Amino acid sequence: MNFLEERIVKDGIVKPGNVLKVDSFLNHQMDIALLDEIGREFKRRFADKKITKVLTIEASGIAIAYPVAREFGVPLVFAKKSKSINIEGEMYVAEVESFTHKNKNQVIVSKKFLGPDDHLLIIDDFLANGCALQGLITIAESAGATVEGLGIAIEKGFQIGGRVIRNFGYHLESLAIVDAMDAEKGTITFRAQD
Ligand code: 5GP
Repeated sequence: MNFLEERIVKDGIVKPGNVLKVDSFLNHQMDIALLDEIGREFKRRFADKKITKVLTIEASGIAIAYPVAREFGVPLVFAKKSKSINIEGEMYVAEVESFTHKNKNQVIVSKKFLGPDDHLLIIDDFLANGCALQGLITIAESAGATVEGLGIAIEKGFQIGGRVIRNFGYHLESLAIVDAMDAEKGTITFRAQD
């Protein structure tokens, strides 16, 4: 098991409805040393890529993306969730359905901060059905930017997102892939990775 898998086993809580709670170390209270290690691990996995910006989505993606952007020495841009509709023109817009909240949000990024010269590493905390990542890919495409790779802290491998994104041909790296989890027994099974 790698460092993140070990931490998930120790402190993650399996909830009914295929939700893994990691709020004691990742997305409510945050373990900064763990986040720094996540940053170093993504730098190692995407070491051969020339990244100009890291792109993520608020709110919990920001905590993961921050140490990654610091490792690469590049700016971090995060897509904002927005309810206003009168924003086209200055903004790239995508629609994202939330797995955890079951609602739809428009996410926006100012055209000032992404463009055709950008080579992006897209980062998020979780990958479930892939809506958040597809929204970020849509924004990257609207900007004419190149998606060099996508990095996820925890992929739920029993949901379709990972397969869809890999089938598109993207280089997707997930630090922990949960293949099964059982809310009653509290067990978590990880996919073996090199
Ligand atoms: P997707 O768009 O891939 O269906 O879901 C990804 C988003 O939903 C992530 O940004 C994450 O915030 C949230 N999410 C999905 N599954 C889980 C989960 O099991 N636990 C937590 N804490 N968040 C999740």
